[in-house]
Amino acid sequence: MKRIPFKLIQCFGMTLLLLVTSMFGAGSEALGQDEGSSKKLTLVCSTTQIADFARNIVGDRWEVICVLAPGEDPHTYEVGNDDALSVARANLCLENGWNLEGHSWMKRLATNANKPLVTCVEGVKPLMLDANGETVNDPHAWFDTSNASIYVLNIVDAVSKIDPSHAAEYKARSKLYLIQIRALNQWIARQVTAIPKARRILVTHHDAFGYFSKAYGFQAISPVGWTTGELSGVAIDQKQKIVEQIRELGVKSIFVETTINRELLDDIARETGITVGGELYSDAMGGQGTAGETYIGMMRENVLTIVEHLK
Ligand SMILES: [Zn+2]
Repeated sequence: MKRIPFKLIQCFGMTLLLLVTSMFGAGSEALGQDEGSSKKLTLVCSTTQIADFARNIVGDRWEVICVLAPGEDPHTYEVGNDDALSVARANLCLENGWNLEGHSWMKRLATNANKPLVTCVEGVKPLMLDANGETVNDPHAWFDTSNASIYVLNIVDAVSKIDPSHAAEYKARSKLYLIQIRALNQWIARQVTAIPKARRILVTHHDAFGYFSKAYGFQAISPVGWTTGELSGVAIDQKQKIVEQIRELGVKSIFVETTINRELLDDIARETGITVGGELYSDAMGGQGTAGETYIGMMRENVLTIVEHLK
C-alpha cells in the first residue's frame, strides 16, 4: 500500500508528493502521528545487543530505548513502571525471544500496551538445550555472528514496514553494518587459532556460549544451565561434575560473566586450583565508555580475554 504513492512521487514530482503526503499521511496506521513531523519514531528494545543492532540501522531517525541497562540479566529482570511508560510511546518493540526475557517480559510489555513486537531470533536455526528435562531453544543466538546478521535483517524489515519512506536508508546502513559483522567473524576465526584445539574449552557460569562455541570450535561447559533464573539452580553434584571435568580436561582458566555474581565460579576455581581468566560479556554489553559498549566491542573484548587466558 505504501510503496505505490512513493513510486508515483518519483514519476510526477513535487506537486504529487504534497498531494499524496496529505492523502496518506493522516490515515497511516504504521507511522501514526509521527509522519510528516520531525519528531522521532520510538523503538523499545529488550536487550543491549538488540538496541545496538537497531542503532546501527536507524541512525538518528528513531529514538532507541533499551529496557535492560548494561550488565543487567535478562533472565531474571523484573519490569518496572518506567518500562511500561517507554513502551506506551513506542512505535515498535523488539525482543530477543526464545524466553531469554524470563517469563516473556518484553512480550507482556508490548501486549499490554497493544504495540507491535518483533522477535529477533525469527529465522535462526536454534541450538537445543536441556532445561530440567525439557528441551528448549537456546536463546543466546547473537553469539554466532551469522545469527547476529539475521537479527539485523529482521530489524531492517521491521523498521522499514513502520517507516517505508526511509527503507532505502535503513538498508544502506545495514549493508555497512553487515560487512562489519562479517569482518568480525573473520577476525574471531583468526584470533582463536592461537588456542590449541585441545584447550578450546570454555567454562562459564551459564550456558550463554553454545553458539559461540559451535561457531569457533570450543566445547562449552557451565554449572548453571541455560538460564540464570529460577529454573536453574546448581545442585552440589552438578558443581562436582564440573570440577571433575575441569580436572580431567586440564582446563587452564574459567570465565565469569558481567551479568552474574561471580561467587560460584570463584568457588570452583578455588576447588580446582585454576585461575578465573577474566570477565566475559554474556547476556548484556558493557556500559557507556567501556570497550564492550557495542556488539562488535563486546565480541572483540571477549575473544581477546578468552585467547589471552586459554592459549
Ligand atoms: Zn543467558
